[in-house]
Amino acid sequence: EIDRKDIRIGDTVLVQRAGDVIPEVVKVIEHKRTGTERKFSMPAHCPACGSPVTKPENEAVYRCLNLQCPAKIKESIRHFASRRAMDIEGLGDKLIDQLVDQGLVKNFADIYTLTKDQLASLDRMADKSAGNVLASIQKSKKAGLERLLYALGIRHVGEHTARILVQHFKSLNKLLQASRYDLLDIHEIGPEVSESIVQFFSDEKNRLLLQRLQEAGVSCEPAAPLAADTRLSGKTFVFTGTLKKMTRAEAEQLVVARGGRASGSVSKKTDFVVAGDDPGSKYEKARKLGVTILTEEDFLELLK
Ligand SMILES: [Zn+2]
Repeated sequence: EIDRKDIRIGDTVLVQRAGDVIPEVVKVIEHKRTGTERKFSMPAHCPACGSPVTKPENEAVYRCLNLQCPAKIKESIRHFASRRAMDIEGLGDKLIDQLVDQGLVKNFADIYTLTKDQLASLDRMADKSAGNVLASIQKSKKAGLERLLYALGIRHVGEHTARILVQHFKSLNKLLQASRYDLLDIHEIGPEVSESIVQFFSDEKNRLLLQRLQEAGVSCEPAAPLAADTRLSGKTFVFTGTLKKMTRAEAEQLVVARGGRASGSVSKKTDFVVAGDDPGSKYEKARKLGVTILTEEDFLELLK
């Protein structure tokens, strides 16, 4: 793609919105070139650890396959600690860099064995902030199974899938015993996702990691549901379009926390479709099926 469009480092480009997040580069604006642009070539080695990189067949991206690669460890810890995962406040980029570089943290479980002395020995870390970080680490133990599954960074398992898995299996042990076929039985879980989940949990290292997390007191129970809400309990919600006050994932979490279900597709069994801005085909389908359609405001009203 980069070659085909002759995109060089330093170029000014025209982009357009495509898909959800990453804009598509339409073309290079050639008259803005100054002559200092350089051709890009995919590095053959990981810039962080020097291991060769490979591009698995059928995939678009190159990966460093070294499991001990510090850049990969840092990235996975960053994801683990992020707000929507375990939400460990104070465990930011700079701190993670130091912890990994000094070998204090090699995996998620190591986070939970950090001591105040270890933290306080790091650059620019006062006693007080070390205490604060430890407190947030402690607090994250109660994040619950939904967040934990998302935090593990299993490929293809985002927040939505993590919640579906917990809704279905209700415990980590049941999920660990699930076969490909059990997983494929779940609506919304496809072959790629089920394969990835089974692979992750069949890896001895990952099982050990989960065991260590549990031993450290990290909760593997579903997050406690709020008091059952009769208006939402047992009802199936589908969200479409962009919400203003929250992300779709957050809205789904609110529904699930009140005993409702969040689904990705509209069917006769759908009770409510919540339509944000620019609703898609789900909106049309809901209208055809006569499913109740709520605006974001209606939905927020329902939550009160
Ligand atoms: Zn690497």
